Amino acid sequence: MSEIKAPVLRKSRAVPVLEPGAMAHSKPFPAGPEIQARLGFPDRLVPDWEKVAVNLLGDLVKQSRALQVFLDSCVKCGACTDKCHYFLGTADPKNMPVARQDLLRSVYRRYYTFAGKFFPGLVGARDMTKEVLDDWYSYFHQCSQCRRCSVFCPFGIDTAEISMAARYIMSSVGMGQKYTNEIISKVHNIGNNLGLPEPALADTLISLEEDVKEETGVEVRFPLDVKGAEVLVVTPSADFFAEPHIDGLIGYAKVFHAAGVSWTLSSHASEASNFSMFIGSHSNLQRVAVRIREAAQELGVRRIIVGECGHAWRVAYNYWNTLIGPFDFLDRNYPVPQHICEFTHDLIDHGAIRFDKSANDDKVVTFHDSCNVSRASRMGNHPGGQFTIPRAIIRACCNHFYDMAPETIHEKTFCCGGGGGLLTDDLLELRVKGAAPRMNALKQVVEEHGVNHVAAICAICKSQFSRVLPYYQFSMNMVGSVHGLVSKAILLGPGN
Ligand code: SF4
Ligand code: SF4
Repeated sequence: MSEIKAPVLRKSRAVPVLEPGAMAHSKPFPAGPEIQARLGFPDRLVPDWEKVAVNLLGDLVKQSRALQVFLDSCVKCGACTDKCHYFLGTADPKNMPVARQDLLRSVYRRYYTFAGKFFPGLVGARDMTKEVLDDWYSYFHQCSQCRRCSVFCPFGIDTAEISMAARYIMSSVGMGQKYTNEIISKVHNIGNNLGLPEPALADTLISLEEDVKEETGVEVRFPLDVKGAEVLVVTPSADFFAEPHIDGLIGYAKVFHAAGVSWTLSSHASEASNFSMFIGSHSNLQRVAVRIREAAQELGVRRIIVGECGHAWRVAYNYWNTLIGPFDFLDRNYPVPQHICEFTHDLIDHGAIRFDKSANDDKVVTFHDSCNVSRASRMGNHPGGQFTIPRAIIRACCNHFYDMAPETIHEKTFCCGGGGGLLTDDLLELRVKGAAPRMNALKQVVEEHGVNHVAAICAICKSQFSRVLPYYQFSMNMVGSVHGLVSKAILLGPGN
């Protein structure tokens, strides 16, 4: 821990002095042959990989008009250059979004544009070489696909899409990343990111029932595989074990109990997150997601609710319908899918659940908007619901809440530094440095308002903050689930 030096936090967010090559050494561990094979990717660099990679790039551009527009339309205006948390935290110019895009754009130009074919030197076109591939492997694994840069780009160029395409090409020529690809293979084999088998999951849920009974005296159920339940909850598997995630799961259970709505978890679909999005693999995305449809049909539920997970919500909100729909077997009186925050907020709005806010009086709370929720999805039935709904829940169950600076929240939120398949210790230096802009904003509300708790609705953000907060002299226990706050304050019945 002491070897990684976190950037000094400053009040003004100055553009750092450039340090070319500062993060060239940062690379994740490569996926081994077995992991690659389980995902349908080659187990080593394929013969003629340069040609395979270039052809695949051509296919991706043909399939996605958006990708082609993103690659064709940058005018080098520079508006995105200082908007990436990884650039601000590392000072490496290749972490400027436009420079990251150019790693792929230069190859696209060389093989798929007139000027690039005949005058490569004039238009920054490059041959596909091992040196280029190594640069891709390093710097496309320094992009959390957070989309912050696209908010500031006048053309809406989305570096996340470019990064997904590059990672897909790398996996497809035999150069996949261990962390993401291993996790996807665990979901294929066992059903969740943690590789948690059904008996262990069942035991955990029974222990939680006992803990809540001991704490509150109330028999709150954590049902598993209950046929005919009203709601199937799919949530990141971190909610079953990790801290502070598990407090969120306890909060969901208490909300269902207080509202009198029957629900169940599923051992077949014991994972909401879907890392396939991070590597741009449509086939793996579908294969992971279909377990949720299968579980919903098998259990005969009428609704599906997604727990606190940023990218899982993006996948559910944006892609489920085309990936695993139609959902004509569910109750169309409710949103499909629905977020747990929408569910809880609706109950609050209708006075169906009540709180003792003073139960959270030891906390001065701020909220971290997660990237995939903020910039790639919505909640509720009005624009910006993804910002107002979680805050309304927090305000309903806490007396002390302060937002961070306006240029660091809502659609301009800064990534936690560990999203997009980078939440691995082989990338810890990047994660610590990339967290700097968020830590800067946090420091400000800590100093001005005495904030001592950061609530989030993303499993990755919670894990990332727990790991990096100490590098900035904050307690790792400062981070919590929004439904952890709900759990503390909700009234379950007479006397509690
Ligand atoms: S998508 Fe996010 S991480 Fe990637 S370049 Fe843009 S701002 Fe940086
Ligand atoms: S803001 Fe958009 S157009 Fe301008 S340099 Fe960045 S990607 Fe290119």
